[in-house]
Amino acid sequence: MICYEYINNYIRKTIKKNDGILAELEDFAKENHVPIVHPEVASLLRVIGLSLRPSRILEVGTAIGYSAILFSTVLEPGGRIDTIDRYELMLQRARTNVKKAGLQDVINIIEGDALEVLKCLEHKYDMIFLDAAKGQYPEFLPECLRLLKSGGLLISDNILYKGMVATDELVVRRKKTIVKRLRSYLETICSMDELETSILPVGDGVAISYKK
Ligand code: SAH
Ligand code: MG
Repeated sequence: MICYEYINNYIRKTIKKNDGILAELEDFAKENHVPIVHPEVASLLRVIGLSLRPSRILEVGTAIGYSAILFSTVLEPGGRIDTIDRYELMLQRARTNVKKAGLQDVINIIEGDALEVLKCLEHKYDMIFLDAAKGQYPEFLPECLRLLKSGGLLISDNILYKGMVATDELVVRRKKTIVKRLRSYLETICSMDELETSILPVGDGVAISYKK
């Protein structure tokens, strides 16, 4: 947790709770240690999504389909979500959950390694949510930029990685490479002329980049 615990507890206690399938999936994720977006990130995504009203969303990292189902609530009518994952067990669960939510026509689950899938995509998106292997963010970036419409948002999750990205004091040895890559990713998205990026200490750290 990168925020003071009492602040997080207060925020979680105060923001609106989800119900229905999202609440069910939150319980499932907790019991089964699936790393879905934290509640305060979910509410941020919802507010941003409702303001942007995207028609097309791309998600990298489906897991059980929680954030994809959340995104379905902010889509412009007739909009669609493409979401990529490579982990068969998660994909099975995601398919089941999407079906249960009646969203088969809205959420398109793509199986495969994200880097390869991204290279094959052609249509542009209004919003891209990056929430997969953190060490690969720098490699995903050129493809995400190619696939993002101008005026669109690239939202990157877990970019402060338990605070390790912000200070060497927290970095454990086996995470050194990932941390290095995340730092380089953040430096890149913050320095590019075509992007305007804000880094937020919400959840595990979220970067929001607007493409000019
Ligand atoms: N966005 C989800 C959580 C995603 S967890 C939610 O908030 O509900 C991260 C997922 O990314 C995992 O299921 C993992 O299998 C997937 N992943 C990580 N690296 C990947 C890659 N290179 N290609 C495809 N999927 C990847
Ligand atoms: Mg995440």
